[in-house]
Amino acid sequence: MPPCKVLAECLTIINSRVLMFLGQLERLNGEAMLADAEIARQITAKILHLIQTQEKTRKEIMSKGSGGMEVILATLEVKDDWSVCRDYVSLPVPGGGRRVGVLVSKGGTGILLQMLLSASKEWPPSEELMLQLHSVLAKVGPKDRKFGVKARLNGALNVTVNLLKQNLQNPKLLLPCLQVLRVYSSNSVNAVSLGKNGLVELMFKIIGPFSKKNTSLLKVALDTLGALLKSKTNARRAVDRAHVPVLLYIYQDWHRNDTRHRHMLIRKGILGCLKNITNIKLGRRAFLDADGMRILYNTSTECLPVRTLDPLINTSSLIMRKCFPKNRLPLPTIKSVFHHQLPHIPAGGPVAQLYSQPPGVDDVVDESDDNEDAEAENDTENEEDKDLHNDDIETDISKLRPRETPSRPFEELKIYERFFLELSEDFQVISVFFRRGPLFGSDQKTAGRYCTFFVSLQGFNFDNPKAAVIDPVTAPKSHCSITVPTAQGLPPKYPTTAPLQGERHLAKDALEEGAEEDGDEGAVLEVPDTALLLPLHDPDLYVEMVKSTRSVPQYSQVAYPDYFGHVAPTFREHILERVYGVQRTKIFQDIERLIHPNDILDKVVYDLDIQSPVVDDGESLKFNSQFESGNLRKAIQVRRYEYDLVLNSDINSNHYHQWFYFEVSGMCVGAPYRFNIINCEKSNSQFNYGMQVLMYSVQEAIGGRPRWVRTGADICYYKNHFSRSSIAAGGQKGKSYYTMTFSMTFNHKDDVCYFAYHYPYTYSTLKMHLQKLEALRTPQVYLRQDILCETLGGNGCPLLTITAMPESTSNDQICQFRNRPLVFLSARVHPGETNASWVMKGTLEFLMGTSPLAQSLREAYIFKIVPMLNPDGVVNGNHRCSLSGEDLNRQWQSPSPELHPTIYHTKSLLQYLTAIQRAPLVFCDYHGHSRKKNVFMYGCSLKETVWQTNISATSCDLHEDLGYRTLPKILSQIAPAFSMASCSFVVERSKEATARVVVWREMGVQRSYTMESTLCGCDQGKYKGLQIGTRELEEMGAQFCVALLRLKRLTCPLELRNHAHLLDVESDFIETRCKVTSPSTYVLEDEEHSFMEEVDYSAESGDELEHEPDVADTHDNHLSDSESNSQRDALT
Ligand SMILES: [Zn+2]
Repeated sequence: MPPCKVLAECLTIINSRVLMFLGQLERLNGEAMLADAEIARQITAKILHLIQTQEKTRKEIMSKGSGGMEVILATLEVKDDWSVCRDYVSLPVPGGGRRVGVLVSKGGTGILLQMLLSASKEWPPSEELMLQLHSVLAKVGPKDRKFGVKARLNGALNVTVNLLKQNLQNPKLLLPCLQVLRVYSSNSVNAVSLGKNGLVELMFKIIGPFSKKNTSLLKVALDTLGALLKSKTNARRAVDRAHVPVLLYIYQDWHRNDTRHRHMLIRKGILGCLKNITNIKLGRRAFLDADGMRILYNTSTECLPVRTLDPLINTSSLIMRKCFPKNRLPLPTIKSVFHHQLPHIPAGGPVAQLYSQPPGVDDVVDESDDNEDAEAENDTENEEDKDLHNDDIETDISKLRPRETPSRPFEELKIYERFFLELSEDFQVISVFFRRGPLFGSDQKTAGRYCTFFVSLQGFNFDNPKAAVIDPVTAPKSHCSITVPTAQGLPPKYPTTAPLQGERHLAKDALEEGAEEDGDEGAVLEVPDTALLLPLHDPDLYVEMVKSTRSVPQYSQVAYPDYFGHVAPTFREHILERVYGVQRTKIFQDIERLIHPNDILDKVVYDLDIQSPVVDDGESLKFNSQFESGNLRKAIQVRRYEYDLVLNSDINSNHYHQWFYFEVSGMCVGAPYRFNIINCEKSNSQFNYGMQVLMYSVQEAIGGRPRWVRTGADICYYKNHFSRSSIAAGGQKGKSYYTMTFSMTFNHKDDVCYFAYHYPYTYSTLKMHLQKLEALRTPQVYLRQDILCETLGGNGCPLLTITAMPESTSNDQICQFRNRPLVFLSARVHPGETNASWVMKGTLEFLMGTSPLAQSLREAYIFKIVPMLNPDGVVNGNHRCSLSGEDLNRQWQSPSPELHPTIYHTKSLLQYLTAIQRAPLVFCDYHGHSRKKNVFMYGCSLKETVWQTNISATSCDLHEDLGYRTLPKILSQIAPAFSMASCSFVVERSKEATARVVVWREMGVQRSYTMESTLCGCDQGKYKGLQIGTRELEEMGAQFCVALLRLKRLTCPLELRNHAHLLDVESDFIETRCKVTSPSTYVLEDEEHSFMEEVDYSAESGDELEHEPDVADTHDNHLSDSESNSQRDALT
């Protein structure tokens, strides 16, 4: 800035005396003569005096825009005179950070560094000046984000290092030097360079055991050392010179002597050094060799009672977790225990890859795990994935335009006509006998009566045996007899206290021989009578259904919960509040395994990989999961009351496990059991945010409370020390598994309890529900059940058609009947998302109901429903895949009729409809979501996708009907669990083969959705703070139907006038639009694939990314906010 301009500015602001002096200074600066130094000094002294004595002047000169600072800095720059400088240096310093900020913003850093360099050229350097310069720099540095770079470029690093070397015994100078070095070192390039100049060694000379002297010096030295050790090279240097045991020794010494915890920052500083050293493999080894685990474990345990020492415990815990030697998952292979032979194995597909490994190759652990490369282990999944997701938005406009071009010749699709008989249905009037249901009268003897009504001949399958109602009798399944699994585990007779009204006894011959014990002829199983509460449940029918269900392991047992049924509890189940420090406690218990190996039993109590049964010595729990949807591979008793559990991979796969369902018996009442599922894959889980596991107690069921309840305490989910092969981690090396842990005590002796990830809903349950629905049909309902196709595992995939019978056989009525718009629904493509089935159950029950709303709905639409797209996955306890080892919801673009028959044929149905110009009004695929709360929808919108990208709006025609928002908007108004704010209508590339996107793009269905229901609970609406249960899920399914009815009214022009208020829904779009464009509602993770965290907990969970910045200057200005903050905190 030209001096005159500065002066002009000053005129308006600064009082006349200071102004006069500043003016004089400016003139002197212009002359640049050495002789002026003395005058300058005098003027400066006067300015200094004014500033020191007049608060107003001080404020004015430091205020932004005053220009006073420029003049002073210009003087500093021009007058290369130490004594002048000293005055100036002392000028801006006293006082708070704002003034320093002004100095930085005016370019003061560069000038000060220049002065430092000039000062260093004098011999001997003025100690006083050096002291003052460093004091100023120590304050300026943390405020200047580019300080490190500027210092290096000005050549100031060595000046300070040399000064330090010469003044190691001079605490007065040492402190400001260290303070400046601390700031230098926070720049990663500087750290490497300073390390080469021996600064690491110097720091080790300064730090030492407990001493009350010079603690502030020590603190700064430790901070500096910590920053230096972030560089791999420096860390290696420290390890090579055996400094790890030194640090541990010093830490223990401070821990022992700092009894009043006055020096926590020093102790934390030592841990900070250890934390950074152990980022390298050598460091971790040195730490273990120096008994670091035991030292940090013991010190941390002693710190536990003092809450203020938490930072020490947390950092110790982080170091210990990082250094904990990686364990091998206790399995012979990570491939699923069960194998299913596919009709053919497509080359390059996941199954081909799975079996391409030569036999005998160990896939549990990577050989490459030992490489230093594998050290990139970190918790930065979040960041990486965010990048990936930004790329994930579809930007190809041609792909964002739905196209309605028939992809297959109509001749090929014509065979699907038989699934759409209602479109050509001809009705005849006949008289039939039908049996009145209990709703119509209490006298069962007169329950039957003759009735005349219209029947659909085809609907009864008289002439279409192919499209048969599911019939377990004809289903070929003779090799298996069915047992309720643990009758052996139970006492011969159940306690018969307080039998339920109407309780019936299940004769044991209804079960298999296994039910007998000790030949006790009188063994009976009391089955709770739930007929009134569960109209769709019937234990006997369930067993019948199981007989025709085909599983790969050929299960022959029935789990009690599926047999008895589940009556949703009436009490509220709150989202659990996380107990403080719970994860830390669990991790410490894990670390104890290493420290006290003799306490560990390591006793295998359940193992699917070995044929011979495990010996039962009565000292352990008994486990079982060999029933439909069961998934437990191995159970290991670790301590008396603690078990490690390993889940099985999806069949024909080596990963995808999260779903669990297993049985436990042989428990001690009141004992504090801890269960750890040790091979979880996802980086976070709702188990960290209040979700509990589900438990079903057989004793409770017999006592009249047949139900799943949320249970478990001290639940948490964290990264563990079992290494995960890159084969099963998408090629990423150095990954670990996660542990889901929960504790619980059992209330009943001789109980059999079941644990599940979510409310189980088996394929046999579906078949039972469908049969019962059939039985509940009233004459008004048109219901047809077809088998769409057979799955790879030989199970039928049901297809339902539901609508209303025509009111008469008049042409008008028949015409209305045939021309009703279609609604296409599907669910349970992902077996682990059982909540989707419960929502579907709610939908089906509503649709089959007798309410006027249900009748209106049936009259409004023809419903086509595939309630379970992946029966094989459900039967075999998979989490995500079908027997082909693939995620079926990624196969919609080109499904294979052999490998993905349910998807192939479901898509064909939709293609057929499109070909005959009857594409559905609404398509919705029900899913479950493990990482988010509430129920919400994903849809497809060209506009909303484009808004998320950089495509210029003019480059494409953004004409789009807003109708896709109507249904979710209605749902958010009527369904308490539904949250509009969680919905997203963005099309992602990674989702282009999902049902939602394919049906939208290829069939031109504008209202094509994925509906996601939480596995956990709600954080808004009526159910806020509660975990979700089957009642709420079923209600959601019913509300979906109600919303469709409203949608009908909105889309039918004649009715618009009567429902004008509902148009508000459409106009609300404008309101919500702004929300949609904000990134927070842009929810990319659907169907649980991404690693984006709802809440970040990575700080707790371990390892950190290591930057190795030796080369590039681009990392240079990196000084993270937290670092700047901590440094500022340290200084102020
Ligand atoms: Zn899903």
